[in-house]
Amino acid sequence: MRVKIELSQIEITMNKEQSDKEPLDKKYLKAQQYHPETLSVRAGSETTEFGENSEALFLNSSFRFQSAAQAAARFGGTEPGNIYSRFTNPTVTMFQNKLAALEGAEQCVATSSGMSAILACVMGLCSAGDHVVASRSIFGTSVQLFGNILKRWGLEVTFVSLTNPDEWQTAVTSKTKLFFVETPSNPLTEVCDIQALADIAHESGALLVVDNCFCTPAIQKPLQLGADIIIHSATKYIDGQGRCLGGAVLGSKVLMEPVYGFLRTAGVTMSAFNAWVFLKGLETLYVRMEAHARNALALATWLETQPQVARVYYPGLQSHPQHVLAMLQQSNGGGIVSFEVKPKSGQTVQQAAWQLIDATQMISITANLGDAKSTITHPATTTHSRVTAEARVAAGIGDGLIRIAVGLEHIEDIKADLAFLTT
Ligand SMILES: *Cc1c(COP(=O)(O)O)cnc(C)c1O
Repeated sequence: MRVKIELSQIEITMNKEQSDKEPLDKKYLKAQQYHPETLSVRAGSETTEFGENSEALFLNSSFRFQSAAQAAARFGGTEPGNIYSRFTNPTVTMFQNKLAALEGAEQCVATSSGMSAILACVMGLCSAGDHVVASRSIFGTSVQLFGNILKRWGLEVTFVSLTNPDEWQTAVTSKTKLFFVETPSNPLTEVCDIQALADIAHESGALLVVDNCFCTPAIQKPLQLGADIIIHSATKYIDGQGRCLGGAVLGSKVLMEPVYGFLRTAGVTMSAFNAWVFLKGLETLYVRMEAHARNALALATWLETQPQVARVYYPGLQSHPQHVLAMLQQSNGGGIVSFEVKPKSGQTVQQAAWQLIDATQMISITANLGDAKSTITHPATTTHSRVTAEARVAAGIGDGLIRIAVGLEHIEDIKADLAFLTT
């Protein structure tokens, strides 16, 4: 059955929340009394009869019923409870509830990866013939998913400039279901006005989806800024130490129902083990994000003074084109810094970029981000290599561009590892 999303439905949910007509879950109300840092440590946790102080890992695929009648009631949905870990698992549920509390979302659907979070969101909320407007500056694989795979299944996609709301307005058709953005974007850290795009989307009955991977709720809360749905790659900062793949979709119960319906049927479920790792990761999210951002600002400021650097991209810098907007939407600039290197004589910009990357001793040459270990990558030949050269140019990702996901090492050691720039 085709699930149709109407703006009116969303408004009803929001109104209910605001007018408090629908009694909220007691636990949810209690959670609101605490600061976000406390929620990251405490929210969503459940304890078994054994009284464990760290969340239990439920490494089992199915759940037993006390009787045939109970099995029928669970399957029929008249009795709540776990059935099978493709649908729900207590460890995954704890992770979902913790992340939902942090994002201020009614519901969270955990997925096997960030990409499957995007897939589940689209498969749950769109049908063949529907239209999506997406930013040109989204994660390379997301461009592939929208532009190649989902297109083959009848989804129409228009790519527009992240920072120009007029282009979004122009791209809207009567079939437009979703707006899809990442802010700050990868790798250029461009920032869009979430409220402005939400207003354009809502005027035409569409929903605004924000991939909040770069910021996490510790830095930016898209739902409070007017977005309808949040996507996460938990693989990045939510894990924080580069161990597991996972993702999440968050939003109102009404919107998450078809997303969960797709997940439960198609099986893009988060593993219980990964959920347990992410639960632990979330406990330290706020202190980690502060430290990442402090190091990133110091590095970006230093890079701006280096003669071999043509340009630095970091929302926390005053030179960033959307610095003022970024500081309104975000509590800091985040942990990702990109910059363009200048070629030495006889060198192409790509050679200059590769030479710098190869000269590092400590920083990991890897495309992952959100790790305690600083990572360095050349987007044009790695994360964005499958994007066509024209699309790369249109997105502003040059051959001299380098992205550093600034880790938790001492800032002086990170700068020293880039000393090649100073020679
Ligand atoms: C990594 C990433 C994804 C994809 O997440 P996976 O967990 O690797 O599938 C999506 N969006 C952004 C912004 C990312 O950085």
